[in-house]
Amino acid sequence: MRRSATIVHETTPSRVLLGPGARHDVPDELERYGARRVLLVATRSARAAAEELEGALGERLAARFDRPVVHTPVEVTAEAMALVEASGADAVVTIGGGSAVGLGKALVARAGLPHLTVPTTYAGSEVTPVLGETRDGVKQTRRDTALLPRTVVYDVDLTLTMPAGLTLTSAVNALAHAVEALWAPDATPVTDALATESSALLLAGLGDVLRDPDDLAARTALQQGAWLAGTCLATAQMGLHHQLAHVLGGAYDLPHAELHTLLLAHVVRHNLPAAPDAAWRLRQMAGDDPAAVIGALAASYDGPRRLRDLGVPEDGLAEVARRVAATPYPNPAPVTEDGVLAVLRAAW
Ligand code: NAD
Repeated sequence: MRRSATIVHETTPSRVLLGPGARHDVPDELERYGARRVLLVATRSARAAAEELEGALGERLAARFDRPVVHTPVEVTAEAMALVEASGADAVVTIGGGSAVGLGKALVARAGLPHLTVPTTYAGSEVTPVLGETRDGVKQTRRDTALLPRTVVYDVDLTLTMPAGLTLTSAVNALAHAVEALWAPDATPVTDALATESSALLLAGLGDVLRDPDDLAARTALQQGAWLAGTCLATAQMGLHHQLAHVLGGAYDLPHAELHTLLLAHVVRHNLPAAPDAAWRLRQMAGDDPAAVIGALAASYDGPRRLRDLGVPEDGLAEVARRVAATPYPNPAPVTEDGVLAVLRAAW
């Protein structure tokens, strides 16, 4: 569609609560929808919070499902839908990472229930209107504001159990949403402000949390940064970084957050010369060489640091570069086969 406006911004309608202990507000929040039969979806990592909530809901608990799976396979959704139907659920509460949130969105798509989510990682899906589902191994994505959780409850206490590797990769994954929003072609003053604040919170918070995983103030900074980064992901178009992660992840079935973590510094190094405003903003918080700062964070754990550590063969890089350059996402630096191959070789 041709537009005359140079800026288009839409505000998403979710209600957000944030604070230590905010999970205790969930039963009252459910009263806002008049929920009487609640389906509780919780990952095993959130078992204690789920049991606590079961006690608080009492007879309002209709059923519980504790097996959300990454990338929302439709067979798992069908199992959870059978529970919705058998129990007569009139609302869904999800507690967990992006996999639990994704299952909640898939149930909303099928049953139109109100969805309250309590995210326990920094994935950001809770504030995006996007659902990615897997059918016969193929991921399909749809976008609809009706998929947005109605309420998001961020409770920093539930992030304290994240191990160092998950903390790092999940936070760098969030940082990638904010950084790509800074150089997005459809950036607005709103996404610029959110992405700048998000990057600052994530960069400052991550160093502190890696030094002291129980630092509540730094964990809160990461959670707030992830919320803002998710909001950027919901509104701004993602570029080369997300396209590389998508093509590589699809071709070699690679772990999502680990892949984002090792790629981001290389894409930042490639793009910043062509993105002066993003470069200026990142330098305010990360000094002269933001790519080096991100690279040092990514190297500060014992997970995979290079594409070769993830099992990507060197002779597969050219084909990935060809596919990326053939249908490039919008990106500040031109997306040429040679340019992408250079980024991939550096990451390899
Ligand atoms: P995840 O939800 O799969 O969780 C990863 C692992 O961490 C799981 O084993 C989980 O049990 C554990 N875990 C979660 N929270 C924990 C905690 N606080 N302490 C200890 N362990 C914990 O991973 P994720 O990265 O949060 O989410 C990935 C999924 O989200 C993918 O399916 C991805 O496609 C989707 N996603 C969607 C969007 C979107 O906008 N639609 C955005 C980001 C991610």
